[in-house]
Amino acid sequence: MFAPRRAVTEMGGHTVFNFIQAVEEQFDEAATSLALEPALAHKIKVCNSSYTVKFGVRLRGTLHTFEGYRAVHSDHIEPVKGGIRYAPDVDREEVEALATLMSLKCALVDIPFGGSKGGLKIDNAQWSVAEREQITRRFAAELIRRNLLSPSQNVPAPDVGTGPLEMAWMADQYRRTHAADINAPGCVTGKPLTHGGIEGRTEATGLGVHFAVQAFLQSEEARELGFPASVAGMTIAVQGFGNVGSHLARFASRDGARIVAVSDRDGCIANPDGLDIAALTSHMKATGGLSGFNGGSFNADRDAVLATPCDILVPAAHEGVITADNVEHVEARLVVEAANGPVTPEAERRLEERGIPIIPDIFANSGGVVVSYFEWAKNLSRMSFGRLERRREQILFNTLLGEMESQSSCKLTPSFRERVNEGPTERQLVESGLEDT
Ligand code: GLU
Repeated sequence: MFAPRRAVTEMGGHTVFNFIQAVEEQFDEAATSLALEPALAHKIKVCNSSYTVKFGVRLRGTLHTFEGYRAVHSDHIEPVKGGIRYAPDVDREEVEALATLMSLKCALVDIPFGGSKGGLKIDNAQWSVAEREQITRRFAAELIRRNLLSPSQNVPAPDVGTGPLEMAWMADQYRRTHAADINAPGCVTGKPLTHGGIEGRTEATGLGVHFAVQAFLQSEEARELGFPASVAGMTIAVQGFGNVGSHLARFASRDGARIVAVSDRDGCIANPDGLDIAALTSHMKATGGLSGFNGGSFNADRDAVLATPCDILVPAAHEGVITADNVEHVEARLVVEAANGPVTPEAERRLEERGIPIIPDIFANSGGVVVSYFEWAKNLSRMSFGRLERRREQILFNTLLGEMESQSSCKLTPSFRERVNEGPTERQLVESGLEDT
């Protein structure tokens, strides 16, 4: 009854990647090492619920039907959390696989959320911003009706093809229908700063990947494998120059790594001396692609990035990109799963045989949901984080000073108190050792 599924099936001599099967296969393997009762492992593995909606939006004089999904993998903790993906080929099974990874990711980094994920079958390039707003609001209304967009039950966030703008539309849609909900701003995360968002959320996933690499390089395992202790001087190839890959490249090159190849939809750009990431980002913003950038050589074969000789290969685009078919071309010493599920289970086994370690997705890309948690907590507490921090400092200082006054005949002048309450920073507190008290 609980026979394991294989992630790859043969079809006319070609291997076809199946994401949900890949995630389930990896889950089964992990469950075996935990010696879980098979029936319990099966229950934990499968998605609790999965919702598909088909809705119509009248645009350009015609009614267009869109298909959207929201899967809840596990609501052992509510709200459940996870992004909403906009892509022409997204489907229910893909969203279920991603929801499963969200449960595991949140558990791994100890964030109190269950796992969920959503998707909308849409080609963003086909629609104007105003049209996407109408489509998004309509999709959000469907999710709201079923408590699949709610600050206490299900809190979406950006994913591939969505960003702060979509989150702002969704939050506004929720607010319109739930005017009395004091927690309304916490119904989605990844909102613009001006709409209840939090500083740093946009770059959080890429920065988290950078931190994950640094943590690995500091580990015993890295020492044994002969890795240096930091990325300085290491070469990195990044597949996907979107919100995750571009920020990872920026932080890694800031810390002395050489980004020798980057790919995106239109191809791959390489420079063995290291790409100028700021210039490449500006070029990408201006032209929408990598081609035409004069700081490296362009190759229209975007998969060339996977075979680039480098120290660290970072697949930061999609699932199922390093497979049994191309894994032998990988010439990296370390693979970092910045995307969700980019290495298939078979490719993972082959890399392992070759002694190439992998930093897994649920750890490597968890920075996004971690900062989403802070955004959600900030929305619910209605406390600006700067103020919260200052309050903590003030309470601590006033307690200490009050203690000092009561223990001695010394009375503090009001101006001294004022100075204190203007406040040292938390860092100064830690440095002065007062935090320990
Ligand atoms: N889409 C991101 C992920 O895959 C972020 C999810 C969130 O912030 O809820 O982890």
